[in-house]
Amino acid sequence: MNTFPALSDRHSDPAIYPPGVAYMDGQYLPISEAKISVLDNGFLHSDATYDVVHVWQGAFFRLDDHLDRFFAGMEKLHMSIPLDRAAVTEILKNCVALSGLNNAYVEFICTRGTSPTFSRDPRDAVNRFIAFAIPFASVANPEQMDRGLHVAVTDLVRIPPASVDPTVKNYHWLDLVQGLYAAYAQGAETAILLDAEGNIAEGPGFNVFAVKEGKIYTPEYGVLLGITRQTIFDIGKDLQIPYVTGDLSPEDLRLADEVFVTSTAGGVMPVTKVDNTFIGTGSVGPITQQITRAYWQMHKDDRFRTEISYP
Ligand code: PLP
Repeated sequence: MNTFPALSDRHSDPAIYPPGVAYMDGQYLPISEAKISVLDNGFLHSDATYDVVHVWQGAFFRLDDHLDRFFAGMEKLHMSIPLDRAAVTEILKNCVALSGLNNAYVEFICTRGTSPTFSRDPRDAVNRFIAFAIPFASVANPEQMDRGLHVAVTDLVRIPPASVDPTVKNYHWLDLVQGLYAAYAQGAETAILLDAEGNIAEGPGFNVFAVKEGKIYTPEYGVLLGITRQTIFDIGKDLQIPYVTGDLSPEDLRLADEVFVTSTAGGVMPVTKVDNTFIGTGSVGPITQQITRAYWQMHKDDRFRTEISYP
């Protein structure tokens, strides 16, 4: 039975969440009980950094890389928490173990937090660490994974790197969310945003790749340096598929042989239609398929796995 409230009633929290376990303020909680103060600057000002790592068949994939990015982001934002890498790892493992999830989406966050006086000086706030594990989530649903996503290159410009450093994973998502609505209006399923020069930047939660004549192309700057993006480079080296980072125009994308997008939430996700133009043959291309197989194969490699002990 669908217990989700009707659209017209959705002005309050439906209080229905996926199952999962969170950690905050020193406690493990069912996900439904993990709530932050309305005075937290993470909420009020998007003053936060975060990371998402996934768990596949009982192990984190590339946890060290996600921890590196998270701790580097906190440093760039002048945040600190009384937890080192080992302590954060322990908390993430516990969230997953307590949730019992074999395949999970695990997010960990540092918010600016609150200050006792509601001071405007960010140095007065006590930074807050939160983590949670919920079932594995993907940008693309199974049908879209099968036949390829339909994307629109919107004319929205991704927040420029000179304003917010995109290599610090952040919640400045209004441009991405507006991009989604623009894409839906065009009959597409998700959006790609441009950089200030009109080149391809990234989409809501993913990096963008084009394949042309056997080479892989992806933007170099103005995007989050995705861990999945790095994995594609590693696979490219292994499989001797050359890759190039640099400017990619919307036209380059439409004329590509294959297009795919990448995220921890979903892995390698094929794109078969860009702005109503079918890409290549209109079905998922051979290089995308080869890379996808290699990506999931890497999940079995002990060098990239951090095992979880379930109770
Ligand atoms: N770009 C943005 C804006 C993202 O939010 C994400 C992930 O959520 C990505 C790219 C992909 O990064 P990763 O491969 O590390 O998940």
